[in-house]
Amino acid sequence: MIRRTDLRDTPAGTSRAQYRALLPRAPFDVEAAVAVVRPIVDDVRHRGADAVLDATERFDQVRRDTLAVTADEISAALESLAPDVREALEESISRLRTTCEAELESDVVTEVAPGARVERRIVPVGRVGLYVPGGLAPLVSSVIMNTVPAQVAGVRSLALATPPQREFGGAPHPTVLAACALLGVEEVYAVGGAQAIAMFAYGAGPCEPVDLVTGPGNIYVVAAKRLVQSVTGIDSEAGPTEIAILADETADPAFVAADLISQAEHDPLAAAVLVTPSTALAEAVDAELARQVPSAKHDERIGIALTSEQSATVLVRDVEQGLDVVNAYAAEHLEIHTADAAAVAARVENAGAVFVGSWAPVSLGDYTAGSNHVLPTAGCACHSSGLSVRSFCKSMQVVTYDEAALREVGPKVVVLAEAEDLPSHGAAVSVRLDTPEGSLS
Ligand code: NAD
Repeated sequence: MIRRTDLRDTPAGTSRAQYRALLPRAPFDVEAAVAVVRPIVDDVRHRGADAVLDATERFDQVRRDTLAVTADEISAALESLAPDVREALEESISRLRTTCEAELESDVVTEVAPGARVERRIVPVGRVGLYVPGGLAPLVSSVIMNTVPAQVAGVRSLALATPPQREFGGAPHPTVLAACALLGVEEVYAVGGAQAIAMFAYGAGPCEPVDLVTGPGNIYVVAAKRLVQSVTGIDSEAGPTEIAILADETADPAFVAADLISQAEHDPLAAAVLVTPSTALAEAVDAELARQVPSAKHDERIGIALTSEQSATVLVRDVEQGLDVVNAYAAEHLEIHTADAAAVAARVENAGAVFVGSWAPVSLGDYTAGSNHVLPTAGCACHSSGLSVRSFCKSMQVVTYDEAALREVGPKVVVLAEAEDLPSHGAAVSVRLDTPEGSLS
């Protein structure tokens, strides 16, 4: 069912750009989606809450009176949460918090000369809008993945938006609300898609504009994030999910097939790519897919994702060429199922997250590994990172020079200002150098 792409005859020295052109990728046309969502974003910008409610009715078939979810709705959801789900959510929160706390960066003070100090001060973003998907599945785990790093970073004001669900009377899914309650997130909006991103960027009704929007979503969410970048920051473009697996003959085909299916379950646009030098493994994985897919609950969208052009088994000469291929592809998730998987993983340069060996499936990272599942897609892992504490912090430089320090270096500043033909820059220093020493203290 999954297509084959044979790269074994590709000449040695094939560049990453050449490999990219040969590899499967979703027809993920964000620019086309931008054209679709632009009127939604503009409407929210001009008409605020009414436009958000209208778009919600149109795309989610729900007409709510208000955008915000009440405190009573949130606490009722926590009360009705099944104990085993609560325990699993708490484990996920605890592991991610441990990682985030360890990753928190400290301020760095550098004494560049006596009396001359430059400090890199880490400051949390003031207000953040967290997006939690809920179109095809209520991604309760995305509440955790967005909120925990933001809280550890020290963000003061957090708002969260997630699509309303018809089956729950237009409220978000109760498990999503329960996770908000567990994490103490109180400002929650029953809004999804592009209208949620526009609400965060421009403000609407009770929602004040935010400084930064984070979180994964479908193509419309990604397109809206791209559109609002002139007024708010965004994290990476975390769109329809991707899994690449680099596997050799030592891999277990049942594990490999289950992991490809697990990510195909997200979205018909999801990509599942197996890269292997073993035709025997490729055939065994095909057989496993044929066995496992029909019994999957979401077999229809899994089938579409696996048979569409973004998914394939890519045959390579050896693991060495496989590394070239996966580094060119830059998957959101990359699993390594080879002999000496740790050594192979150490040579990966481009991936949102790498899962090493047979016992670290992507599903573990989706929920409870302690890593973050909001990761760059569509090749953006070449330049972007997944969500982390760092995403919610800015670094600010604080420059402190005393008089002696400026007198010492000031003439060089004047020289550079003159070299740039900006003499007024130099004059701002000369006016100080010309002041009698100690006259200001
Ligand atoms: P979603 O919440 O992202 O999107 C649902 C919203 O899309 C709806 O509320 C609706 O307003 C809007 N919408 C639907 N059809 C529309 C249309 N024709 N025009 C305009 N707006 C429309 O939920 P989803 O659809 O389930 O998608 C979730 C996505 O998130 C999946 O693709 C999944 O793979 C991805 N994901 C990515 C990551 C990552 O880190 N990259 C992590 C988790 C999930």
